[in-house]
Amino acid sequence: MEVSPGVRLLLDFVNTYDVESGVYALPSFLASERLAGLGPAAPAVELWEGLRAVLTLHTEPSGEQDAVAGLNALLGAAPLTVRLDAHGGAELVPVPGLRGAAGLTALVAAAVAGACADGSWARVKACSMENCRWVYFDRSPAGRRRWCDMAVCGSRAKMRAYRAAKRGQAGPPGATHAPAGAEEAGTGGVRQLPRRGEAR
Ligand SMILES: [Zn+2]
Repeated sequence: MEVSPGVRLLLDFVNTYDVESGVYALPSFLASERLAGLGPAAPAVELWEGLRAVLTLHTEPSGEQDAVAGLNALLGAAPLTVRLDAHGGAELVPVPGLRGAAGLTALVAAAVAGACADGSWARVKACSMENCRWVYFDRSPAGRRRWCDMAVCGSRAKMRAYRAAKRGQAGPPGATHAPAGAEEAGTGGVRQLPRRGEAR
């Protein structure tokens, strides 16, 4: 499944802030060529936070349900219009000539509507790992992937579950296998976090 330009925009927008490393690249995203002509988009951070919170529900369905109402309120201000094509199709697009925050909000709203229309919205997800929240497109056949990177956040989550299971059981470990590094990492307060790979 290919990532549409709209979904690519959503991923790049939310990932302008890397929760784990603290790298913040929103200004350069807003200044990028595809957003040329938009001008300053001051409330971008609110929109960004709202989107990330909703995308987290795609991996943590029992999470913060207020996130949906919050994002709805922001997207409610997005001026969209319907554009027909010559093949019997139609899509929601930003009203022409928008600038600033309204322009960005409309671009995001149109991208969300487009992803819903082509069935890819549920596959746009924020990593289930709390200190990561990297946003990715889930290409797995069943669409049940919960982590940005199985080798990094997936193994962290398994290690955490393994430790919790180990604490909770009196006898020897049963079918649960320790992930690589679980023993060496111990239960101390300091964790060595592996860096995320390039494969996302
Ligand atoms: Zn992650």
